Amino acid sequence: MLTVKNLNTHYGNIHALKGVDLEVRQGEIVTLIGSNGAGKSTTLSTVTGLLKPTRGEITFNGVSIAGKPPSEIVRMGISLSPEGREVFPALTVEENLSLGAFTRKDKAAVKRSYDRVYDLFPRLSERKKQTAGTLSGGEQQMLAIGRSLMAEPQLLMLDEPSLGLAPKLVMMIFDLIVSINKQGTTILLVEQNANMALSIAHRGYVLETGKVILTDDAKALATNEAVRRAYLGQV
Ligand code: ATP
Repeated sequence: MLTVKNLNTHYGNIHALKGVDLEVRQGEIVTLIGSNGAGKSTTLSTVTGLLKPTRGEITFNGVSIAGKPPSEIVRMGISLSPEGREVFPALTVEENLSLGAFTRKDKAAVKRSYDRVYDLFPRLSERKKQTAGTLSGGEQQMLAIGRSLMAEPQLLMLDEPSLGLAPKLVMMIFDLIVSINKQGTTILLVEQNANMALSIAHRGYVLETGKVILTDDAKALATNEAVRRAYLGQV
């Protein structure tokens, strides 16, 4: 579904991605793990068109998308739930969700997406008219994921969905990611919480200083000694 080859991205003089190769197949949950500054968020931002690659290829369902504008990439079926939630605090839950559907014209289909999101996140359904700034951290995270689902993406990319959440909520968010995947949405998940990410993913990539240093089935990565030492906090 998504193929990334030799992806290079710069921030001015900073060479953040130095030839990233990865693949996400239809139906999978794929996780990108790595330390702070490894290039995980930069990879997602480049795939969604927020950053332009300086070299390399990105194809989605066989079509080249590298350098296309973000709105066109959303329309083609890729949606990003960004790190740090980034909901609009002064807008209500419903208004925030409606922004996720801005590229869509079929009102009946958009209505089905609201139903899907409210079904997945009953807490949002109970708070439709509440302003997003007054939601708890976990609820804001649900809203950010819900908003990206409003684009009905084929590929949902999640950047650090567990960041700053209490363990109970982390479990809940990860269960929801599995449910969303079972409904047919392919997932690319960026996480600091490598333990949790590998527990729900099919495959994973380990990123270090802008390069993929290892890729394998999630189970194999979770038991790989070097990965355990570096990213799972275990010896
Ligand atoms: P984290 O988990 O800390 O977000 P990450 O793996 O997502 O880490 P990136 O945010 O992709 O890492 O950062 C990759 C590299 O690019 C880092 O060296 C970072 O300092 C640099 N970088 C990221 N954003 C910018 C920016 N806006 N301007 C300059 N350099 C940046």
